[in-house]
Amino acid sequence: MRYIGKIFCIGILFFMISMNIPGQDSTPQEGKKFPMPKIIPHAQWHKTAPVGFPAQGTRKNIAPGESLQFKNLKIELVSMNPATPGDPKSSTDTVDLKLSMGEKSEQKKVNEGDAFNWEGFHIAVLAAHTKKGELGFGLTEFEITTIDSIPPEIAASTKAGNAASRARIPHKIEKIMLHHAGDPKPITPKDDPVKKLQNLQAWGEKDKKWWDVPYHLIVALDGAIYEGRDWHYIGETNTKYNPTGYLQLMVMGNYELQEPNEAQINAVTDIMAWAVQEFNVPLDKIYGHRDLAETACPGKHLYRYLKEGAFHSGIKQRLEK
Ligand SMILES: [Zn+2]
Repeated sequence: MRYIGKIFCIGILFFMISMNIPGQDSTPQEGKKFPMPKIIPHAQWHKTAPVGFPAQGTRKNIAPGESLQFKNLKIELVSMNPATPGDPKSSTDTVDLKLSMGEKSEQKKVNEGDAFNWEGFHIAVLAAHTKKGELGFGLTEFEITTIDSIPPEIAASTKAGNAASRARIPHKIEKIMLHHAGDPKPITPKDDPVKKLQNLQAWGEKDKKWWDVPYHLIVALDGAIYEGRDWHYIGETNTKYNPTGYLQLMVMGNYELQEPNEAQINAVTDIMAWAVQEFNVPLDKIYGHRDLAETACPGKHLYRYLKEGAFHSGIKQRLEK
């Protein structure tokens, strides 16, 4: 994942949102064997609090010819049409959609960045990636919410809007997904993890219109674990799989280029063991991003621990104690 270094200040009004800080609001339950690892709360590293609002909905990226279903609404992405430079009639990328619900159906051309209401749903076309080489090339990003569950000003808007207009979509964790940051070069102890998190949040808000960092928990080079987005809500992806139901776990660095160290492996295993127990995740529902999407993530040197069973035996050991 590429970052930019600029901090994008947004969402001052949302400071009062009560954060769900893991480990600080839950009382230990009897019979729980493996404790939640120590997690550095979001408020201790961020410059601005996460934005967005809870709503019923879905978030998915699809390619032309594919469709997505939310409740009884089906949206087919018929085509993505790049803007024509110099033509004022075609200055924005557009998408052709086919909407259907039961017997009712409608074709619609929508500009990238626009939103509209249809049969009780608010449909935002967050981005259409028509430029070769750009992140998410070939995919259109959709956010669909029920009109009943969103603030009236969002329901009335014909623009997808910025990060503060994004829905926090609740989900139930059933699976675990391992990522790496994919920095352009290996990271070293000189890299400040807090700065990296702040940059990731700022880039996500500005460039991707994400309401927070895309991952739920982040492991630094020294094995420290940072709180990312509230895991009660789905994470984000630049790829096609559906992020619903995954606890998104990211390790800082690039594990195509560097080897994970012992502190990181221990931290990842601790989180996995705790999550397996906390959310009843079956051991065969722990994935690397590359298992579900065309990506090198989480990097071959980290993925090996998944593929060769090292994480699984670490989890079993921790839960048997
Ligand atoms: Zn990934």
